[in-house]
Amino acid sequence: MGKFAIHPVLQEIAGIFIRHGKQVFLVGGAVRDMLRGRQAQDWDLATDALPDEVIALFPRVIPTGIKHGTVTVHFKGRSLEVTTYRTESGYHDGRRPDQVTYAACIEEDLSRRDFTMNAIALPLPRGPLVDPFNGMADIQGKIIRAVGNPQERFAEDGLRPLRAVRFAAQIGFDVEEATLKAIPQVLGTTEKVSPERIRDELDKILASPQPSRAFLLMEKTGLLELLLPELARCRNIEQKGFHRFDVLDHSLLACDAAARDHAPELVRIAALLHDMGKPLTRALDPAGVWTFYQHEQVSATLSRDLLTRLRYPNAVIEGVGHLIREHMFHYEPHWSEGAVRRFIIRVGEEHLDHLYQLRRADAYGTTGQALPQDFLLPLITRVDEVLAKNQALSLKDLSVSGKDLIALGLKPGPPMGIILSALLEAVVEDPALNTKETLLTIAGNLKERYP
Ligand code: ATP
Ligand code: MG
Repeated sequence: MGKFAIHPVLQEIAGIFIRHGKQVFLVGGAVRDMLRGRQAQDWDLATDALPDEVIALFPRVIPTGIKHGTVTVHFKGRSLEVTTYRTESGYHDGRRPDQVTYAACIEEDLSRRDFTMNAIALPLPRGPLVDPFNGMADIQGKIIRAVGNPQERFAEDGLRPLRAVRFAAQIGFDVEEATLKAIPQVLGTTEKVSPERIRDELDKILASPQPSRAFLLMEKTGLLELLLPELARCRNIEQKGFHRFDVLDHSLLACDAAARDHAPELVRIAALLHDMGKPLTRALDPAGVWTFYQHEQVSATLSRDLLTRLRYPNAVIEGVGHLIREHMFHYEPHWSEGAVRRFIIRVGEEHLDHLYQLRRADAYGTTGQALPQDFLLPLITRVDEVLAKNQALSLKDLSVSGKDLIALGLKPGPPMGIILSALLEAVVEDPALNTKETLLTIAGNLKERYP
């Protein structure tokens, strides 16, 4: 297999290993992606050199996972994970191997890897592929197949089932039947996996071309009920009106349709979770039509629980909750300019774009079709007009400050906050009021009411 173009930096690194009498292989995703005809994202190397020996070979090495035999080598602007051949034994908690035993050869190292497509090694600087589990054939057939007995391999590490469905969404392969069938048998092990590792896989699912592929496989195998039960419960929740799909399919379509940005994918997370409150708020109105009053509030609360459980950072929890809470806005051309200003204030200028994206995804998920033109354009035009006027939208834009109010004889404290908010409200309704003189007059009158 001399047909791979090995990056010059990789060749240089390999040369250093070889000159010191060590073997080195490119392994994992990089080889898989090369065989799929894709540029490798990052490079993982396997070697017979021990971590201390690798540290001695290169000037900048960080012992990132030394307990598992892994160090990170920084070299010519690249960073590579270098792992000594190893086997893994004793996963008593289904999370992490209790101990690491170094393996004698690359084949043994490959046998502990999760899927055949990930268990191929490319010798550096050159040489025939080492492919003891026919990973090449599976890549050609676009198949995700466990190395060895799937149930045993999944029982060793409960994250592997989620990795299987993640790869399905990420690279569009199918999970081989026996591998898929083993998943429901090992959910007890997956349950013990740390939330952080689950979250990292979810982030990769959400960043993939079609996240719904993974979520549907999760549903089929019980992973969805285990990890995202709030979402699983959206199955068979029928909706009427413009909706063609039940709440789960609608949410998955919306998630797929949401634009990708960068991980964590705020809009895609919001799209996935934005209707989770529907099963809990569903009621029939007198005309026999399903209603979901306040579902955006309930969805936001459920999303907070779910994302907290998965250890998402607070900024993500807050951001997603906010988008979900605001996703039901309903613009009408008769909105006054004050109403547009209040909309901007409620959403927050910096969140407008994400909220538009969420709403477009939501609309797509309703029919499964892109709308012919951007139905948000009338609102966006009004919002942009208002923003261009640079009118007061927050306390800092007022022509008076707390200091001016103190000069009026007010004391700092809650009443002053109430007065400032009242001034802002007045100014948002009528920007002409935003002069120092007028606002001091209003504040003087209000002062009588809040002594
Ligand atoms: P990506 O980088 O896109 O996530 P990858 O295949 O490189 O894909 P990594 O998580 O970087 O995945 O892991 C590198 C390699 O290590 C994998 O290709 C696989 O051979 C092995 N591996 C990773 N995680 C596991 C696991 N939980 N069980 C067994 N082998 C694993
Ligand atoms: Mg990788």
